[in-house]
Amino acid sequence: MPKLVSHPDEVKIISRRFGQGAEKIDRYIELGGYEAVKKCLAQGSDWIINEVKASGLRGRGGAGFSTGMKWSFVPKQSAKPKYILVNGDESEPGTCKDHLIFLHDPHSVIEGAIIAGLAVGAKMGFIYMRGEYRTLLEIMERAVADAYARGFLGKNIFGSDKEFQIITQTGAGAYEVGEESALMESLEGKRGVPRIKPPFPAVVGLYGGPTVINNAETIATVPHVINMGAAAYAAVGSPRNGGTRLFGVSGCVERPGVYELPMGYNLKKIIYEVAGGIRNGRQLKAVVPGGSSTPVLLPDEIDIGMDFDQVGKAGSMLGSAAVIVLDDQTCMVEFALRTISFYRHESCGWCIPCREGTDWLKKSLTRIHAGFGEATDIDTVRYIAENMLGHTFCPLGDAAAMPTIAFVKKFRQEFEDHLNGKPCPLAKMGLPQFTVV
Ligand code: SF4
Repeated sequence: MPKLVSHPDEVKIISRRFGQGAEKIDRYIELGGYEAVKKCLAQGSDWIINEVKASGLRGRGGAGFSTGMKWSFVPKQSAKPKYILVNGDESEPGTCKDHLIFLHDPHSVIEGAIIAGLAVGAKMGFIYMRGEYRTLLEIMERAVADAYARGFLGKNIFGSDKEFQIITQTGAGAYEVGEESALMESLEGKRGVPRIKPPFPAVVGLYGGPTVINNAETIATVPHVINMGAAAYAAVGSPRNGGTRLFGVSGCVERPGVYELPMGYNLKKIIYEVAGGIRNGRQLKAVVPGGSSTPVLLPDEIDIGMDFDQVGKAGSMLGSAAVIVLDDQTCMVEFALRTISFYRHESCGWCIPCREGTDWLKKSLTRIHAGFGEATDIDTVRYIAENMLGHTFCPLGDAAAMPTIAFVKKFRQEFEDHLNGKPCPLAKMGLPQFTVV
């Protein structure tokens, strides 16, 4: 289980109940739980949507789309049932924030899902968790059962005339089903591959009904937005980026962990102050700012605020806010190979640019890393990745291509050194190298 960490700069909103026994329903209520849903029952759907819009809450899965706006796209009237879908298929390398929410505060996910249901008029919700989260599934199932026993789920919730049911579900452990339409296919019992869009899920989603699909962190944040009030929540973050974010800091830092910081908090400060700086007094070489799919940043590019807009301006993405820190002992060719090996493994094979592209990238990078490549291989890698970009059926193709392009562009000399017989930095230091299987 991930160890809880803390730092004085943290603003604990989502994580304020972590480590306080809130997985038990009585304790969750004692700590203010299920008050937000009562307020929403009294206020009605338009008020909820406007409040969430005004809070500046943007999707925490990575896309960063306005949550309130997304909810407003669901038609008021529908012949088919509407659904709330909580995306807990957390699989992006470096990311373990939803994990902590499921572990320490499962009722916040339930409460957020009920509020989303009230906002769009849905009576049914699904909490979809990644296949490997077996222990967390048990915690979540216990929380759902307790909520049913209290009358917080089912018909006439909280004594009202409203109904909301929740079913928990796990996948089989595939990164691809984190993509919203592939997740819906998987939930319907089919192969987890994406659907053609449009139509978009808000109109035609799960079982053909209008569907709101939100990341688990987004949904767990909603009750806090309601309790704090939109203006107070928005004021915590930076312009157009309301509230806080769970930043998962991993790699070569002294104090890795998940820290809750205001949106827009400086990346350099996250690394050098919050996470204690580079491990063993070494030098920083590069930072992957938002999970393995986001383009790498150089040390002189990290004096930026961590929100969707500022990281975008710096040429990368906030993504899942998983900050991966690399020190000067890291071989960037190996790191690129490790990254692409993951995407090659997880490509669902549905479309050719991704299926073939990730395979060729892995083959080419393996050759370069082993020192058997040809001079043209570096440009071939870049050419393949650039031709995948924007030409695949779902964002996984881009997720593989974007970091690869950045690695080659920013660390070309290291790729050339491998081809010119200069030893890999790892070998030079007598450190073990990555073995491709
Ligand atoms: Fe599948 Fe990759 Fe195509 Fe997405 S981009 S549909 S993961 S093959």
